Amino acid sequence: MRIEEELKLDFQDVLIRPKRSTLTSRSEVDISREFVFRHSGRRYHGVPIIAANMDTVGTFEMAQALDKHQLATALHKHYEEAELVGYFMALPASATVFYSMGITREDYDKFCRVKQQAGDAIAHVCVDVANGYTKSFIDFVQRLRQAWPDITIMAGNVVTGEMAEELILDGADIVKVGIGPGSVCTTRKMTGIGYPQLSAIIECADAAHGLGGLICADGGCTSPGDLAKAFGGGADFVMLGGMLAGHDECMGETVEQNGVRKVRFYGMSSRAAMDKHAGGVANYRAAEGKEVLLDYRGPVEATLQEILGGVRSACTYVGAHQLRELSKRTTFIRVARQLNEVFGQS
Ligand code: 5GP
Repeated sequence: MRIEEELKLDFQDVLIRPKRSTLTSRSEVDISREFVFRHSGRRYHGVPIIAANMDTVGTFEMAQALDKHQLATALHKHYEEAELVGYFMALPASATVFYSMGITREDYDKFCRVKQQAGDAIAHVCVDVANGYTKSFIDFVQRLRQAWPDITIMAGNVVTGEMAEELILDGADIVKVGIGPGSVCTTRKMTGIGYPQLSAIIECADAAHGLGGLICADGGCTSPGDLAKAFGGGADFVMLGGMLAGHDECMGETVEQNGVRKVRFYGMSSRAAMDKHAGGVANYRAAEGKEVLLDYRGPVEATLQEILGGVRSACTYVGAHQLRELSKRTTFIRVARQLNEVFGQS
């Protein structure tokens, strides 16, 4: 047993220090980014925020609403093959939509069939497992890269620099970072495993950038300020689940509770998701996600305006004309957390 004493931070442990700025209005800030992906060589231009590949967030409808603002979507993996082929074939070339998959033989065979029919319309792939530290995951990323040299691969999730480096060297263009911070994730509770998300972002970004790779901060953002902190910490992309949940575009089940309209939102490893997609929780495992009822929030457009406005405003506070400058201009100040926050007392 070993104890690491070095301080590790979550979003709520810091604030961003304001800096002298020549910007006079948020409208002067450009929050889009341009990248050339390390392995695929493809060019990206857009606002680097991605809807999570959860079945209540990563929908075709969400992708359409987000693309209006140049945001990206990772589709959930439960669409039928024919639906996916039809969708990608009709997708405008400018849209950034990730095809998502796990690492089973079934997942790979389905991807190959869809890709063969949709051709170059599928340019981005998200390989998603809860634990990115297994050999089978690394082998999968290597094989996928060899088989499809020109697709952009986002792969995760991991939380440490050495695994971010490993994945970039194995063929990932973007490493997805985050174990345990998700709004409907119970991994930390169920297993004790995790890593404070802001430190994971800072450490993985540093490692990935050293090799010309990128990272996507996945999970734990509960407000636009958290996105600003993630970008400030070095994230190239930020993935959102809960912040985009509860809207019309989620196509989720709504229920009435005390006269208030609510929307079901659940983790992809929750009992609810496993009942829906896998015929229940297998007897050798426990659910690592939960289900919540969110207030129905209408179309996602107003939420998007709030998120984009918040990130733009953060840039003006530190004098960043472009989102890419935000990290260089970020100084985090540590704030003392209230004891009741730490211990969950009211
Ligand atoms: P959020 O933005 O809601 O805080 O986090 C979204 C992320 O939570 C997803 O992109 C995914 O990485 C993670 N996630 C989604 N469902 C589950 C789950 O059931 N269990 C765990 N451990 N993580 C989940």
